[in-house]
Amino acid sequence: MDGTGSAGEASMIRLSGVGKTYDDGTVAVHALDLEVRRGELVCLVGPSGCGKSTTLKMINRLIEPTTGTIEIDGRDVTRQDPVQLRRSIGYVIQQVGLFPHQRIIANVMTVPLLYGESKATARARATELLELVGLDPARYAERYPSQLSGGQQQRVGVARALAAKPPVLLMDEPFGAVDPLVRLRLQDEFLRLQRDLGVTVVFVTHDIDEAVRLGDRVAVFATGGRLAQYDTPARILGRPADDFVADFVGSTSGLRRLDVTPLDPAHLEPLEGVRAGDIGAAIDVDSTLGHAMAVLLRDDAGMVGVRDGARFVGVLTPNGIHRALRAALAEMADA
Ligand code: ADP
Repeated sequence: MDGTGSAGEASMIRLSGVGKTYDDGTVAVHALDLEVRRGELVCLVGPSGCGKSTTLKMINRLIEPTTGTIEIDGRDVTRQDPVQLRRSIGYVIQQVGLFPHQRIIANVMTVPLLYGESKATARARATELLELVGLDPARYAERYPSQLSGGQQQRVGVARALAAKPPVLLMDEPFGAVDPLVRLRLQDEFLRLQRDLGVTVVFVTHDIDEAVRLGDRVAVFATGGRLAQYDTPARILGRPADDFVADFVGSTSGLRRLDVTPLDPAHLEPLEGVRAGDIGAAIDVDSTLGHAMAVLLRDDAGMVGVRDGARFVGVLTPNGIHRALRAALAEMADA
């Protein structure tokens, strides 16, 4: 599998022939080529022990690769001072690692202070970040970590990692310990934040749902630290590269594809002849098929109206959704 992107798109992180064999002979990562574009969110996903965390930790040199090279923004990471390097790369882990005896604001101010920012600047930046991650500074800044819920602590972890405005953020199962509903919210919030800030993210998860939900592209790892497929969520789900990937994405991949396939105006049916009473709520033309399906089921209607701004552009039926899914698959085959 070739992990390099198309020419012309700026690469932010590039792993070339990267391997890691631990001292006891365990091959954790094998000849890995992986390229992450500037501003991209890439998820590394796969079963436990397939080398995801090792890969992540090689990027910020918590672990040294045995073979290959890693470049960030065109610079070989092994030629940089590891401490300096790690300060310029945000890192969020599941156990958060907040300092328990420091208030929330102080936790977030840590890295800017290390960088030599004034206290006032660091505090202003930390306050702004708490707001960005959805924690009201007036309520939470002066609390201690133990006075926050798991989800809130995780938000502080994200805020702290972003405090130094790192161009690259590494995240290792950051939302793994929170309950499913909180997790969905954290994912949504994080996606918005990532888009707003334009930060390049490598995100490790063992959860394929999380990977296809968040990732611009998804790298599926197989046992032995082998990259099985590196592709868009729609292609991972619709065109798994081999039996391993097909098995990993599972039999519900058809359902998941609904959420990663945009609605295609070509599969709408015209409004003419449709009685107003037959249409449920209207959805935006930029919606996913999953959203269309959810609205159809919610309203128990035979079709859902689709609008582009204020203008109705047609209706979508269950048949239309099916046709759109099949067409998306066919398109992938042609590509
Ligand atoms: P993942 O993050 O996908 O669960 P890891 O990168 O943590 O996988 O581990 C990959 C493989 O390397 C596993 O077989 C694991 O047991 C092994 N491993 C991880 N850390 C070490 C270590 N310090 N020494 C020896 N083997 C290790």
